[in-house]
Amino acid sequence: MTRQQVRKSILGVSFLLFQIRIFHLFFSPVLIVFAVSQGVINGSFLIYVFLFLTSLYFGRAFCSWVCPGGGLQELCSLAVHKRAKGGGYNRIKYVIWGLWVSAIVWLAIRAGGFHAIDPFFGLQQGTRAQKYILFFGVIALVVPTSFLFGRWASCHYMCWMVPFMVIGTKIKDRVKWPSLHLKVDRDVCTNCEACDQHCPMSLDVYGMVQKGSMRNSECILCGNCVDSCVSGAIRYSFAAPE
Ligand code: SF4
Ligand code: SF4
Repeated sequence: MTRQQVRKSILGVSFLLFQIRIFHLFFSPVLIVFAVSQGVINGSFLIYVFLFLTSLYFGRAFCSWVCPGGGLQELCSLAVHKRAKGGGYNRIKYVIWGLWVSAIVWLAIRAGGFHAIDPFFGLQQGTRAQKYILFFGVIALVVPTSFLFGRWASCHYMCWMVPFMVIGTKIKDRVKWPSLHLKVDRDVCTNCEACDQHCPMSLDVYGMVQKGSMRNSECILCGNCVDSCVSGAIRYSFAAPE
């Protein structure tokens, strides 16, 4: 089994697990709002903190290796080959995130801080109908976005979890402690541009290779560029970045 087959299999399982209610709760951007307004640290709060902490060592690898939404986007990519535009549109997710985090902070202050930790907050409440609304709501968000705006578009433009990991990635790259990242040796690049064509995030990978820096806040560390580069110019590294 190749690395990409392993990655896609993990994403597929993650997406299948997502229909189980407890997984909804752990990723819900809505439940955290209700929990915080009652002074409770819930499961999704803990997951977002976990994503931030893991990004300090693994960047955005969660998006391409574990995220159930990533699994759905891989499925869409079987039919969608259009490249997402990216650029300034990528900022939309930071606006969404900023408003949402501001609301959470405001509600936490109004609740007088946190009084309890309950990872399973909301598990007993909620009907079967609500479960399906959550599950199919994510599908209704991700699938049309992919078809309209290009592959992995919701990861580019809308995902509320991405900014946590971008902040963690920027911290790790600035402090330069050992962490997962891409390394490039442009001297062995044969200019075939296969890396560019295989990037699910539609990044200008060839341009990054030419610049000699693979840093890009939209890179999800999927390794497609690594595995498509027959000359071995791009590789994973876990050393301190230069
Ligand atoms: S796939 Fe490898 S050899 Fe081809 S352009 Fe990209 S880095 Fe260069
Ligand atoms: S640059 Fe490489 S590792 Fe990053 S998203 Fe594109 S293909 Fe994946």
